Amino acid sequence: MAATWAKPTPRSRFSWAVPNSSSSSLERRGRDAAIHSRVTCAFCHRAADDGLQLGPLASHACLPCARRLGMRLLERPTTFVPIWPLLADDDDGSPEPKVRLSDGRTVELRERTAEMKRELSMDKRVELAEMLGPLGLPREQLLEAAFVLTEAEPPLAQRAMDVLFDARSTPADVAHLERLLLPS
Ligand SMILES: [Zn+2]
Repeated sequence: MAATWAKPTPRSRFSWAVPNSSSSSLERRGRDAAIHSRVTCAFCHRAADDGLQLGPLASHACLPCARRLGMRLLERPTTFVPIWPLLADDDDGSPEPKVRLSDGRTVELRERTAEMKRELSMDKRVELAEMLGPLGLPREQLLEAAFVLTEAEPPLAQRAMDVLFDARSTPADVAHLERLLLPS
């Protein structure tokens, strides 16, 4: 089990939404956004110095809205199925996978991963979010990115955004999210 956590698959379609961007350029982009550019949040419409780009879309979120998005995603993931259909994957009724530990015990994978994740630093949680999709766990990937958004600062929060918003994201998704995040 431990070995599968060791190394993210580089440059998967889930990891980096911007073509030709490297880790360093993405971090630079995060810093530049924080220092130089004021953006308007697509959700609350306030100007933000710490705006996070919504993946490849020409839209941004302020940090408080990004945190709210992360929290709502964790609390009520099925609310967001219209935007991220993969969040519905858990409802297929299949039994939770189990893993066998080195001491011979068999536990639910969910239980074991929750235990392991509590020991990880935030940058490791981001790496985990980036690798879960390529490992075939897209729902867990989205929820892991949501967790990162609830606590991380840029540029780690930007990487979580890049997991959530990829080439499949549309401006209509952003409009839908705006309604979900700021109920009238
Ligand atoms: Zn906002």
